[in-house]
Amino acid sequence: MLEGLEPTKNYRCKVRDTAKGLEQKDSKIFLEAVADSEKWSDKGLSVALAVRGVKISNEAIGRHRRKFCACYR
Ligand SMILES: [Zn+2]
Repeated sequence: MLEGLEPTKNYRCKVRDTAKGLEQKDSKIFLEAVADSEKWSDKGLSVALAVRGVKISNEAIGRHRRKFCACYR
């Protein structure tokens, strides 16, 4: 019953999940915006995405940018 028991990975990356959930074209634009921290602040990007109907918190964007998320483990 407990074969393969592993600790739950807490830090799923919302940036990665969101990119996967978008169409390829949008996913590319999204990831470019996430990568461009000179143009976009965490909060500014979060707000601009919400306006377009993409819900992601500035904390999630910040974690990914600072490599604290699951992508970098
Ligand atoms: Zn990530």
